[in-house]
Amino acid sequence: MFSRKPFRFTRKLAFKLTLWYAGIFSISCFCALIVFYLATASVINRRTDLEILKDAKEFSSVYITKGISGVKAAMLIELESEGAGNMFLHLVDSKGEEFTIPSLSSWGDPDMGRSSINRVRGGAARFFETLVAPGRPYPFRVLTSSIAPGVIIQIGQSLEDDERLMRACREVLSITLGLIALLSALGGFLFARRALAGVGEVTKTAKEISKGAFERRVEVKGRGEEIDTLAETFNRMVEQIETLIRGMREMTDNIAHDLKSPITRIRGVAEITLTGGNLPKEFEFMSGSIVEECDRLLVMINAMLDISEAEAGVAKLAIEEVDMAQVVRDACDLFQPVAENNQVQVIQRLAEVATISGDKMKIQRAMSNLLDNALKYTPPGGTITASVQVEPDQVILSVSDTGSGISDRDLPHIFDRFFRGDRSRSLPGTGLGLNLTLAIARAHSGDVKVASVPGQGSTFTMTLPRTPHLH
Ligand code: ADP
Repeated sequence: MFSRKPFRFTRKLAFKLTLWYAGIFSISCFCALIVFYLATASVINRRTDLEILKDAKEFSSVYITKGISGVKAAMLIELESEGAGNMFLHLVDSKGEEFTIPSLSSWGDPDMGRSSINRVRGGAARFFETLVAPGRPYPFRVLTSSIAPGVIIQIGQSLEDDERLMRACREVLSITLGLIALLSALGGFLFARRALAGVGEVTKTAKEISKGAFERRVEVKGRGEEIDTLAETFNRMVEQIETLIRGMREMTDNIAHDLKSPITRIRGVAEITLTGGNLPKEFEFMSGSIVEECDRLLVMINAMLDISEAEAGVAKLAIEEVDMAQVVRDACDLFQPVAENNQVQVIQRLAEVATISGDKMKIQRAMSNLLDNALKYTPPGGTITASVQVEPDQVILSVSDTGSGISDRDLPHIFDRFFRGDRSRSLPGTGLGLNLTLAIARAHSGDVKVASVPGQGSTFTMTLPRTPHLH
């Protein structure tokens, strides 16, 4: 069977990055080398043309001083110095007589360059062309030029040296390009591996965490901003998950603990009744106690359900126009009989209208929790002040009391689930009210803060924006 491993490697990001890096770098170098090669070829061609042109000028000077015979002698000297295989010279005098060395038939084509001669004869000053002689491996650069009226010289020079030079140049450039491709692939691979090392470490840590090692974190090494940001974000995410899991564990412990007491009590009452005299009065007492304990359990379970719904955020809110002043007014009216019973005065300081977009039922619930606490922890003769202030983009609701206040030890924990202050344990409650109030405020993109002086009272401030932000 075929192994799938090699194909998996080609799907790796490091491989793709290497390929891109090496590809782009090699193509850029290839383009640069091509430009260099073409420039070199153009310089070499120009140099050859200039050399041939210089020869033609020299023949022209010889013609002026020594006439046609002088030119023929100079042609023989030139051919001897260049070598018969590298050059041909062709002279046509004013009478149409031709002198060619070496004979063009030895080049395989006696009419080579004939059309150019006709062209110059027809009036063109000079004419350059590149010709290929049959059976010769290298082409020729041929100049046809008039050196005196009616006298035409044709100088053909082999491009063998130029071609050899360009071939050597091509070979060097090909080797250079191959080395560049190899080195850029190697560099690209090392670069990609280094860049992705952080990603690999995040993956490794994620695997370890998935096996239960929640204390593991990715080391932030300063490899590059993106990788460091990824590592930091990942660590933050793991910390949040860890906090969440710890919170859930604590909550489960607390729930178990808080359910245990009423259930134990229910069981105790039932057991005593069963082992007792089975009098109707005992059964009546048992039923009453069980109903009471079940009510306490229901209050707690409902509060927990409300918290989890509020923590689902803005999506679970039934948004409508809510007049916060009216909410406070209604809550104060509702608690007025309790306040009178406790001999506590409730003062309202309300803005005329304080409208926000929010979930009316939930805001009413939050307000009731604050007012309920204030009444619970304020002794007779105390005062509770409920106020609503309006700001351009938010509404601030506060409930102050002149009650027991909160100790510095308890203050950081009062919003925790199931937290109850030491002095509150004798009073009814679940330790969930403030947590629910905070969850409701946060679902509305708001917040709840507390300021308290033990023995003097507390002020709870709930800030709600006019419109909750969509997360
Ligand atoms: P509960 O009132 O059921 O105990 P809460 O979540 O409403 O639970 O409050 C948590 C704790 O915060 C209370 O047990 C109490 O110690 C403290 N607390 C809350 N409101 C006040 C207040 N107005 N004055 C003094 N203590 C308060």
